[in-house]
Amino acid sequence: MPIRVLSEEVAAKIAAGEVVERPASVVKELVENSIDAGAREIKVEVRRGGRRLMRVIDDGTGIPAAEVELAFARHATSKIASVEELASIATLGFRGEALASIAAVSQLTIVTRAAEEDVGTLLRLEGGKVTHRQKKGCPQGTVITVENLFYNVPARLKFLRAETTERKHIDGLVYRYGMAYPHLRFSLLNDGRLTFQSLGSGELYDVLIEVYGLEVAQQMIEVRSSETNDLGLVDVHGYISPPSLHRANRSYLTFFVNGRWVKDRMLSYAVSEAYRTLLPTGRHPIVVLRLELDPSQVDINVHPTKSEIRFLDSNAVFAAVQKAVRRTLVDQAPIPRMMGRPSQQPVLDMERWRRLVEVGTQARAVGIEAPSAFEFPESAKLPPLRVLGQVAQTYIIAEGPEGLYLIDQHAAHERVLYERLLAERAKMAVASQSLLEPLTIELPFQPGIAGGESLEFLNHLGFDIEPFGGETYLVRAVPTMLATGDIGQAIAEIVDGLTEGEAVGAGEERALISLVCHSAVRAGKTLSQSEMRDLIRQLEATTMPRTCPHGRPTMIHLSAAQLAREFGRR
Ligand code: ADP
Ligand code: MG
Repeated sequence: MPIRVLSEEVAAKIAAGEVVERPASVVKELVENSIDAGAREIKVEVRRGGRRLMRVIDDGTGIPAAEVELAFARHATSKIASVEELASIATLGFRGEALASIAAVSQLTIVTRAAEEDVGTLLRLEGGKVTHRQKKGCPQGTVITVENLFYNVPARLKFLRAETTERKHIDGLVYRYGMAYPHLRFSLLNDGRLTFQSLGSGELYDVLIEVYGLEVAQQMIEVRSSETNDLGLVDVHGYISPPSLHRANRSYLTFFVNGRWVKDRMLSYAVSEAYRTLLPTGRHPIVVLRLELDPSQVDINVHPTKSEIRFLDSNAVFAAVQKAVRRTLVDQAPIPRMMGRPSQQPVLDMERWRRLVEVGTQARAVGIEAPSAFEFPESAKLPPLRVLGQVAQTYIIAEGPEGLYLIDQHAAHERVLYERLLAERAKMAVASQSLLEPLTIELPFQPGIAGGESLEFLNHLGFDIEPFGGETYLVRAVPTMLATGDIGQAIAEIVDGLTEGEAVGAGEERALISLVCHSAVRAGKTLSQSEMRDLIRQLEATTMPRTCPHGRPTMIHLSAAQLAREFGRR
């Protein structure tokens, strides 16, 4: 084919694809425009996860009648005029691309009136072409309605996820802007139902309550740090969770840099470093941090969606954030003391165990005798144990041929249930039990949750859950093992575990572990002799009795020799 210049229409659709990835991208651009326009109140309306309609209503400056068409031209902006200004951008927009891109791939209606004009303008566009224009009386501000996104780009339409998934992305976005701009009033209407509202009080704390609920907000610790370093003044403020409050995935880390919600690995890493040793492995804090620094220190022109940024001196930013968080934690959060001696038993974590088994199995499959280090450690098997009693309603004391065993009842039961669950899953027959009364649960803010997929996974796991409108779900059946556990909490954790965007499978394993963890007998529960005996018998039958699925030991062994030594008999 000879080289030729693409038609304007094709070029526009290609360019639009960079800015508008999914419905949430539209909401993001429109909300950013409203903020740039000095709005005090921003209303977002969404129908069917944004696939049907998205509308953003603001009371900002509005667009003068003479400029409305221009706003939809590519590279048309009122925010910068020269390349130099790129270095010190104070607005969220500057590329002049968003409206053109959105209009190119949707049916769009704008109604806007500038402060200095008496009458507003209504303009309708389809696939970027103006189809209708009229004068219209309306309040000052702008209403943009985007309908049938990607109606003319079937390839993109196909890639949209389930409505619930797209909706969650939009929810997460509006929550984030609510937190970044606590002095603005945001509201979010999903299919006619008000699902989020911020007061515009100017207090981030008030928005935290709306987003995470009062219980979480009350535990959060405020960060306030201003320091002058090589970058000039760097201001870090916001809220972080105490070490006792954590989540199974990293999506509860939210950062704003100069009012812009950004996704930045370095910032996440700085926070993880600050929490180092304070959180259980695999757990993450809830963090909402706002960074303010000289705009010339940040390059925001990295990507059309402007959610990636570059810092001129990322080491200095890293240090500032890490220090601010760490200092706050050390000053304000009680740090749990390490008690006692570390366990003598080397902890064999799941990952390592799986590798060992895999290599061993492979070796055997090709007829090679696996080297002993790769053999499944035979010593891991339990000797027959005799239950003596229970300590602190948490540990079972038992005697075996090699001395005394202290068994963590919760960890031991987790191991038993985990192996049972894996076996049931392998047979596609997870035992399920119907609830007498269906239970309604709320899954509030699950950033990034892939709604549809998570439900499907849960339903394969023995749950029967269906959406009941908005954030409410109806639970009709649960895996039998969970029947007496905290069902709502377990589901929230499982969904959390699933949504971490790591290697395939890791999320599912975490989800299985959460299920088991919520089903297992709690520490603090009195067990009868026969219950303890049952548990020990079941533990003896597992392939990995010595560690729970999290990799912690299920038991501590005091050998007869150790006892003799401690008592000075030898
Ligand atoms: P950018 O935000 O990068 O300038 P956009 O395509 O998003 O580009 O918007 C183009 C122009 O339209 C903006 O520069 C602004 O002047 C105007 N505009 C867009 N949305 C609004 C709004 N809600 N209120 C007032 N003006 C707006
Ligand atoms: Mg814009």
